[in-house]
Amino acid sequence: MADQHPILLVHGGAWNIPDDMVEAHRTGIRNALAAGWKVLGAGGSALDAVEEAVVVMEDDDTFDAGLGSFLTRDGTVQMDAMVMDGATLRAGGVGCVERVKNAIRAARLVLEKSPHVYFVADGAEKFVEELGMKLIDNAELVVPREMERLKRVQALAAKGIPDPTFAPAEFGADANSHDTVGAVALDAHGRLAAATSTGGTVNKTPGRVGDSSLIGCGVYADDSAAASCTGWGEPIMKLVLAKAAADKVVRGQSPQQAAKQCIDMMKSKLNGHGGMILMDRQGKIGIAYNTPRMAWGWRTAESEEFGLER
Ligand code: ASP
Repeated sequence: MADQHPILLVHGGAWNIPDDMVEAHRTGIRNALAAGWKVLGAGGSALDAVEEAVVVMEDDDTFDAGLGSFLTRDGTVQMDAMVMDGATLRAGGVGCVERVKNAIRAARLVLEKSPHVYFVADGAEKFVEELGMKLIDNAELVVPREMERLKRVQALAAKGIPDPTFAPAEFGADANSHDTVGAVALDAHGRLAAATSTGGTVNKTPGRVGDSSLIGCGVYADDSAAASCTGWGEPIMKLVLAKAAADKVVRGQSPQQAAKQCIDMMKSKLNGHGGMILMDRQGKIGIAYNTPRMAWGWRTAESEEFGLER
């Protein structure tokens, strides 16, 4: 199919984005849309557009992806990311990577250069290094704000106060102040793509993999729909939420209905919290979340809109 009107939809995470971080989130979303649109508006592929949009948010320490990610229990950044091409069902993912600047670029290399779909940890780093990606020192991704946050969360845990990561109804907890990033796009040739990238959850046990990079869970694209999720990864994984949403679109739901039903199902079945962006092959979009806030924005040739109130 050709001559579609391209559209790009991005999110910069759910949870309780505090007032003093709202402007930074809006700026980050705007910059991500600009980078993705540079590709999409020039006739480029949805796959390239979602990658470029996500790279911008990984490089912005506002978000829980790349630079400025939440830290593991050991004070390191461990990232998960996946990118998926709806037209071909090609997908590439990395989990628990520590020495790449942009996990989504590593995921794209997996998609392009490997018959496999998923690499983790040292094996992922070795794979991308052999393909010419420069590895970095993990400390380059760690920001003081996150070191302080980790200390606060660990001090609470020492007093027996549950890790807010696993008690997400406590939206007041500053552990959940920013989040995962993602993008979905439809290009002029009618191709859909999705990408999600994250530093995971604060104080996570090293080696834990969340939903974000798992195919069908935190990210999915086929020729009917593309989805990217954010929020509490364990419930999202258990419900294979991104694929569930895509299937609802195939069965005739609008993207908005499908996204909302999936977020509602996550709450009713598992008391899960988070959000989702979803797009169908006509470029119709769905945006749903059950957290106090989610940062999102979309852009077409004619207009754009941002979803985070000041
Ligand atoms: N979904 C991500 C994870 O569980 C983090 C988040 O979006 O809050 O790793």
